Amino acid sequence: MLSSLLIANRGEIARRIIRTARALGIRTIAVHSDVDAAMPFVREADEAVCIGTALARDSYLRQDRILEAAIATGAEAIHPGYGFLSENAEFAEAVQAAGLVWVGAPPASIRAMGLKDAAKERMIAAGVPVTPGYLGADQSPARLQSEADAIGYPVLIKAVAGGGGKGMRKVDEAHAFAESLESCRREAASSFGDDRVLIEKYILSPRHIEVQIFGDTHGNAVHLFERDCSLQRRHQKVIEEAPAPGMDVATREAICAAAVKAAKAVDYIGAGTIEFIADASEGLRADRIWFMEMNTRLQVEHPVTEAITGQDLVEWQLRVASGEPLPKRQDELSITGWAMEARLYAENPVSGFLPSTGPLERLRFPPGVRIDSGVDEGGEVTPFYDPMIAKLIVHAPTRAAAAGKLGDAAGGTEVWPVKTNAAFLARAARHPDFVAARIDTGFIERHIDALAPPPEPSASVLTSAVGAILPPASHDPWTGLTGFRANAAPDLRAEVTVGGQVHLVTLATPVPTSIAALDGGSVLFADGEAWPFSRPRADDIVRGDALSDGMIVAPMPGRIISVAVSPGDPVTKGQRLLVLEAMKMEQGLVAPFDGIVAEIRAVDSAQVSEGALLVRIEKDA
Ligand code: ADP
Ligand code: ADP
Ligand code: MG
Repeated sequence: MLSSLLIANRGEIARRIIRTARALGIRTIAVHSDVDAAMPFVREADEAVCIGTALARDSYLRQDRILEAAIATGAEAIHPGYGFLSENAEFAEAVQAAGLVWVGAPPASIRAMGLKDAAKERMIAAGVPVTPGYLGADQSPARLQSEADAIGYPVLIKAVAGGGGKGMRKVDEAHAFAESLESCRREAASSFGDDRVLIEKYILSPRHIEVQIFGDTHGNAVHLFERDCSLQRRHQKVIEEAPAPGMDVATREAICAAAVKAAKAVDYIGAGTIEFIADASEGLRADRIWFMEMNTRLQVEHPVTEAITGQDLVEWQLRVASGEPLPKRQDELSITGWAMEARLYAENPVSGFLPSTGPLERLRFPPGVRIDSGVDEGGEVTPFYDPMIAKLIVHAPTRAAAAGKLGDAAGGTEVWPVKTNAAFLARAARHPDFVAARIDTGFIERHIDALAPPPEPSASVLTSAVGAILPPASHDPWTGLTGFRANAAPDLRAEVTVGGQVHLVTLATPVPTSIAALDGGSVLFADGEAWPFSRPRADDIVRGDALSDGMIVAPMPGRIISVAVSPGDPVTKGQRLLVLEAMKMEQGLVAPFDGIVAEIRAVDSAQVSEGALLVRIEKDA
């Protein structure tokens, strides 16, 4: 086994790797940018080296500095994580040339799979079914257009060097092709420095199915079953699960065998993922699943595979890199239960998912969920890197149970003041179509209205806010507050300011919430949303209001502290009439509308029982 490991990455994946390395007794070395100096992964590593300033190209992509740090700290190996340099063949070679162990794919495999066109050619040669399309030997717009016409619309234009969902354009009709090609090329040139594209048939009812594979230096290759990553927004994964819903044994065997074949075709070593696109219009069928690309690294969503197989994939990577054979044979691997992962992003669904940065004054997750996170409460989301805050991973015996757990995990997540997609994730996990596994890559777009956040807090959220404001009246505050007037419909209402807006609330059943004092006010967390609210002074609480008959009654047993009005006084809505002390708290009772004081029964210092008439107000004539 390796004795020391430098992690050329940051955030949650750096932490994830440190966790396993430590368990295996490996000394860990973090490298980081100056703005990341206080991040948990830097603290948790045995050693840390600052390699530059915030921008990735000045730090996490600085191959020279990473190698210098490895040599200076006596690191034996380098793990690149995902993103950054993980699929950079030159870096892999430089690491090996420096006499260090590269905990990643062999440079030749990375090269073979690095460009989508070359990878597809390789796969065709190996007999792996690939997405029908044109690989782009001739890049002239006229030729590309005529190939697209021949394939038949819709088609997908893809940058051969693309990744991370970038450099892709779906084209629905021939006349729109030229313009999409141009914009795709522009994006490809600026993002990947390579404007070449290929054309693929756009698969209808598309589902993203991928297979985790592993190879070792002894010529073994196995798969660890499939994942379904169909829940995507703009071609980027949002919720992943394993296994894939609706995958029967024969189809699984066929696709997993194709994945192992693909891996062997490039002499693969280490962790890799073969991504397929499936036409699921008639369920998952082996003859309608095609190779899309290979990711020659550990994948963001690897934890769902860990959950269903009980294996630690980072441990597998480190063992393979040490020259050990794969920890398990194919026939020793099996699937237990169902796992799901949701990516919690620092982004604002209300503003079109723009990234949201800033301090994490609150960052809490419910228990019973695996949280792979790069930040802790008190940390910060900076604008320099991926806005992912955490991955929420659940595992349950059945898919329905896993979906329920994921909904609860996202719904119970509390983040403030950074905006997140937590509520969006909760709604997605609880959506009836998701629960029924009616999913494809268009799911989020199709259901965006149902998944988008509500502009207003729900009645039950408001009730919870009111519940936090009102003093407890009895064992259950609600029984003390509703139905306070015999034989009358409960008409207890309150004004409460939530999210900067004043709401008149009719009390409903409160939702499970958590309330925290933050930002000098209060924030109520419910179903993944965070609602800032203000605690009004007690005398802002209005009873009866517009529906009121003007009878001001004691909402709970108490003692009259003071009476501020006399019979015949004109009063205005909201004006304080008297103060009641109950449960050691003072509560002002105010006029429900403009009028005059018709009657006063309340007597200073007197004890009153619940429902006792205290003051009667009559409307102005
Ligand atoms: P996955 O299938 O694991 O989600 P992605 O291709 O979406 O893989 O990317 C994995 C990680 O690598 C993400 O954090 C993404 O932001 C990053 N990434 C992907 N492509 C690039 C790229 N070309 N440049 C920089 N980061 C990238
Ligand atoms: P990237 O390198 O950016 O991950 P991929 O080739 O893996 O690019 O495609 C990303 C996503 O785009 C897929 O997960 C899928 O949702 C969609 N996609 C890709 N190819 C097709 C296709 N031929 N038909 C329909 N959807 C596709
Ligand atoms: Mg992909």
